[in-house]
Amino acid sequence: MERFTGSFTQQEAIPEEGIAAALEVMRHGRLHRYNTAHGEIAETALLEEEFAAFTGARYCLAVASGGYALATALRALQVCPGAPVLTNAFTLAPVPGAIASMGAQPVFIETTPDLTIDFAHLEVMARETGARVLMLSHMRGHICDMDRLMALCDGLGLKVIEDCAHTMGAAWNGVPSGRHGVIGCYSTQTYKHMNAGEGGLLVTDDPGLAARSVLLSGSYMLYARHRAAPPPEVFEALRLDVPNVSGRMDNLRAAILRPQIALLAERGVRWNALYRVLEAGLAQTQGLRLIPRPAAEQFVASSFQFTLPEWEPERVAALIARCAARGVEMKWFGAPDPVAFTSRYAHWRYAAPNPLPQTDAVLAGLIDMRLPLTFTTEDAALIARIIRAEVLAVGQGPVGPVDALPMGD
Ligand SMILES: *Cc1c(COP(=O)(O)O)cnc(C)c1O
Repeated sequence: MERFTGSFTQQEAIPEEGIAAALEVMRHGRLHRYNTAHGEIAETALLEEEFAAFTGARYCLAVASGGYALATALRALQVCPGAPVLTNAFTLAPVPGAIASMGAQPVFIETTPDLTIDFAHLEVMARETGARVLMLSHMRGHICDMDRLMALCDGLGLKVIEDCAHTMGAAWNGVPSGRHGVIGCYSTQTYKHMNAGEGGLLVTDDPGLAARSVLLSGSYMLYARHRAAPPPEVFEALRLDVPNVSGRMDNLRAAILRPQIALLAERGVRWNALYRVLEAGLAQTQGLRLIPRPAAEQFVASSFQFTLPEWEPERVAALIARCAARGVEMKWFGAPDPVAFTSRYAHWRYAAPNPLPQTDAVLAGLIDMRLPLTFTTEDAALIARIIRAEVLAVGQGPVGPVDALPMGD
């Protein structure tokens, strides 16, 4: 019986160029972004300029985390305490967390079987709550029809903040993810597309939102040192009205990240090659549904999902345990308790979520796994063979008792 022995949590090393730049920052000691020698341009300011160019945005701000970027976007849009903010029911905890950090009210929108936001439910909830903002999460890299979504949101008077934690370098119909809405937010945490341990990036074309975001991040009136920010006049009108909610990025992280921007395209090709091998290996497996990928969606697959429609929970649990025993670590969004990142909307009690039957049905059979670039296409083929064999074995007949579910990282 075949077994997989690779690690689902092992990312690639930081490129040598990033290591050298990080050492340089540590040697001179000026880690704070505004601590520069005469004539020196901080690594953080250069990163912002380069990431703005990568996305085609006019402005970019580097911050401490993806979650902080999301909260900054809400603050810049002046979302008030108690205000409803629409968001995907299928997302990760930092998204409703950013909304709750404002004292605002997350309002969860149903998920389609293709793992994107349900437009009909979005429209109903926008009208019912009178919300002004949609925080759209491209969860696990699945992008909804952005042309239709933006037309719908424009009609409803909704401003869109894009959570691009899983879509850095992706696009819809050629427009980069993060460039459809008024603000795009990205994460540079270890499991995302660029790895600095932690970190976040925010992009926008709106000078007022960019200036507010810079002031919010804690610019100590040194905003003129930013290179991907609006001119000082825009700040002068706002500087005494916007509070400091410190969450800057430092030069060490920026130094690690800068050389990774140029690697994104090549990494995307490798990620998608792994994805396509898994997809092909699982095609036409009875009981297993693959997630369709529309031609307009230029995705960057750092993870893989499939669903097991109508499977009883015991059967799904048995499959997870049997795959784990063969070295294939999968996460189940339908698990009764939060394990690792598999939190689902019903677990965010602070948001008092209403039951969403369609999302519940999707999550009940939703399986998720990481696809680190340390895997080869042979690894992906082996993983697919193991999953396929176990799905066929567990999918029919009686399910025996399951002792323990694997714990996440
Ligand atoms: C990782 C992640 C974030 C935020 O990232 P942090 O940098 O960890 O705060 C936001 N949304 C989704 C969907 C994520 O996976």
